Amino acid sequence: MTCEQAQPLLSAYVDRELDITKSLETEDHLRECPRCSAALQQHEALRSALNAASLAFVAPTGLERRVRKALRREAQPKVLLTIAPWRWAAVPMAATLAAALTWSVAIHRGGTTGEDVVLSDLVAGHVRSLMVDHLVDVATSDQHTVKPWFNGKVDFAPPVADFTASGFPLVGGRVDYIAGRPAAALVYRRRQHVVNVFIWPSGQQEAEALRNVTFDTYHLLRWSASGLTFWAVSDVSGADLESLERLFQNPA
Ligand SMILES: [Zn+2]
Repeated sequence: MTCEQAQPLLSAYVDRELDITKSLETEDHLRECPRCSAALQQHEALRSALNAASLAFVAPTGLERRVRKALRREAQPKVLLTIAPWRWAAVPMAATLAAALTWSVAIHRGGTTGEDVVLSDLVAGHVRSLMVDHLVDVATSDQHTVKPWFNGKVDFAPPVADFTASGFPLVGGRVDYIAGRPAAALVYRRRQHVVNVFIWPSGQQEAEALRNVTFDTYHLLRWSASGLTFWAVSDVSGADLESLERLFQNPA
């Protein structure tokens, strides 16, 4: 066997997909060829890196079950369409973000209260919006474009406003899924940081007794207005989130 014959087989050899004859021929060649042996080591390193848990985002325990349960409650097919398949698919991610998700998974293991579910979904939604290139579905600072975009996607009308003049430019919006219900997500920038504001009708989810929550480097701030619950999630300071809340509560 030559190098040209061996090289294309290495990946299959690592995955034990070759038949016995090809496998033995490849082994014979590898014994006498340093170049192909080095290539084999790279294949093996890549294979174990891909298998390492730190490279894959595992959806929080019970997420799929909760979503499916919620879907059974929902008769409206349009709700089905708002859930992207990557919700519970393995999502490759930068290793630096793995730590950010660790607590979110841990909280599911530690307890299963409604508050845990809401909080972990909020931060998971925020982190995922940053890491899978899914920050917004509608990207514009024009509030008059974002507001009607939500028509038919959620069954309530989120208040959409651009706060550029106050240091919170609107980036856009998307539909997210928090504790088994669709939520509107408005995305703002605060200096170099991203703030997700999740909105849904009050009384539909738990955690409404909470106000200020800090998890690791993330701050979460909840408020209510006009029958809607708002959760701002970001790594900016709690004071910044309170400024944003004031803008929502007293739009100019
Ligand atoms: Zn070779």
